[in-house]
Amino acid sequence: MCDEAVSALDVSIQAQIINLLKDLQDELKLTYLFISHDLNIVHFISDEILVMYLGQIVERGTMESVYRNRAHPYTQALFSATPAFTAEEKRNKQRILLEGDVPSPVDPPAGCRFCGRCPYATAKCAEEPQWYEVEENHIVKCHLFA
Ligand code: SF4
Repeated sequence: MCDEAVSALDVSIQAQIINLLKDLQDELKLTYLFISHDLNIVHFISDEILVMYLGQIVERGTMESVYRNRAHPYTQALFSATPAFTAEEKRNKQRILLEGDVPSPVDPPAGCRFCGRCPYATAKCAEEPQWYEVEENHIVKCHLFA
């Protein structure tokens, strides 16, 4: 398990560590559980992504599918906060600013845990959402997909 393993390092050291992890993975056939807030590193190292909000998994899918089709409103907000790489990304990028405070994980809200900050919340979101399929190997916990 690598929990924010490179977050405190400068970019060149980060790249060396990530490349070393990938080499070891290939050589020893390892599986990593890689926890990070840096979505660019997640993109580089992951085959499958789990997005968590307030201690709960809200989206799960292959790296390719989640990057192409960000389903959960929290996932969309997370991705909107990453720097754009290309000129086209810069032109098209729209930052999603979430309002409200993050609730306490000790006493999470009833229903969908994201409901107090979600721009799409409705009365239905007072009930806990089930898992819904976005596409093959990609699921999301959100009433918008019911
Ligand atoms: S279930 Fe409702 S509040 Fe939760 S993410 Fe979906 S739309 Fe937003």
